[in-house]
Amino acid sequence: MRASGHDFDCDVLVVGGGIVGLSTAYALTRSAPGTRVTVLEKERGPARHQTGRNSGVIHSGIYYRPGSLKARFAVRGAAEMVKFCAEYGIDHEVTGKLIVATDRDELPRLHALVQRGRENGIPVRELGPAQITEYEPEVRGLAAIHVGTTGICDYGAVAAQLATASGAEVRYDEEVTVVDRRPWGVAVRTRTGTVVRARVLVNCAGLYCDRVALLAGDDPGMRIVPFRGEYYDLARPGLVRGLVYPVPDPAFPFLGVHLTRGIDGGVHVGPNAVPALAREGYDWSTVRPLELAGTLGWPGSWHIALRHWRYGVGEVRRSLSKRAFTTSARRLLPALTEDDLRPAPAGVRAQAVLRDGTLADDFLIREAPRTVHVLNAPSPAATASLPIGREIAHRALIALSA
Ligand SMILES: Cc1cc2nc3c(=O)[nH]c(=O)nc-3n(C[C@H](O)[C@H](O)[C@H](O)COP(=O)(O)OP(=O)(O)OC[C@H]3O[C@@H](n4cnc5c(N)ncnc54)[C@H](O)[C@@H]3O)c2cc1C
Repeated sequence: MRASGHDFDCDVLVVGGGIVGLSTAYALTRSAPGTRVTVLEKERGPARHQTGRNSGVIHSGIYYRPGSLKARFAVRGAAEMVKFCAEYGIDHEVTGKLIVATDRDELPRLHALVQRGRENGIPVRELGPAQITEYEPEVRGLAAIHVGTTGICDYGAVAAQLATASGAEVRYDEEVTVVDRRPWGVAVRTRTGTVVRARVLVNCAGLYCDRVALLAGDDPGMRIVPFRGEYYDLARPGLVRGLVYPVPDPAFPFLGVHLTRGIDGGVHVGPNAVPALAREGYDWSTVRPLELAGTLGWPGSWHIALRHWRYGVGEVRRSLSKRAFTTSARRLLPALTEDDLRPAPAGVRAQAVLRDGTLADDFLIREAPRTVHVLNAPSPAATASLPIGREIAHRALIALSA
């Protein structure tokens, strides 16, 4: 794969047609009109993985450490996402949500969230048990907070709109398998044999971002450890009016099994967090031995296993036993029965894990020559995708002018 100074196919090549890659393409063409952007996506359409398999919640930003990229981008991103959906006629609603403590041990953490919400500039209202039932007649708890700015939307539709509105050339069915970085730029080859030459490469490959970084010859210092989140649909959606979350465990970057009324009117119960046996392993029967060996060969995976085995065993038990799942969800919704739960499609989170077993908490964006790698873009990256896309585009444009 060779290129002289003049025969680039595009200025910026984005790998990955999820919401982060497409919002990067959108931001590039908005902030630097005339920039030629190509997106290569291995699937037949946009948003086939994390972006199309999530809870569809526009997060307020209440959970995140003040000053972190997550806090900054989620608060701003939530407001921008509502505007974007309104502008393009995409289904959305600002519903508000409850975070409910069901155990005395959770009360200090609930109060800490109130504090954090205020630090992040998010309006929150504290509720006692009687006020919880005013919002959600079937939900029980010792105390709760109501967050007014949370909403819901269809992120698959947002991603498709970003693809169109960006004006970028988006090529589907093109999986990048070779990356050749040279002083003049980057050339990639796809599984179908297509070669694309660009001045700058942006890696937004989600569950495969570490692989793409390694293909480019960069050591990302992390590996993606895939955590599946399984959902059920509620057969009696009338049990839940809006969005109801437990108090999260701060040891994990996951929010816990929640009840979410989606934009389609149905109510999802989930997601849990179990290790996936393949990066796109949406059920227990999907196993990719090479990927699994890669995960097990990463020292960080063993550190997590040793540190959090008790939590992991509980999650796996609730995954394999509907009864155990129901029992745990009944803490929030006592009227729930096993018959109310119908299996729904799962999602897999791309969680970056460092060598020492640290679960990367914040968004992680790293630059290398002529390259920007997005190495951790977990929840709330869909909410925050417009500002994240601008940040990545900004870094790509600096690389372009270097
Ligand atoms: C269960 C679950 C629930 C969630 N709930 C929420 C929520 O309610 N609100 C929220 O804000 N966030 C939520 N998230 C997080 C959110 O979905 C993700 O942060 C976001 O979708 C990440 O987008 P992405 O573009 O980085 O990844 P993806 O959507 O996974 O896109 C990456 C793309 O790269 C492509 N790709 C990979 N390798 C290659 C290659 N070699 N060549 C070409 N293409 C490649 C993939 O096919 C994929 O389309 C949730 C996530 C999960 C899994």
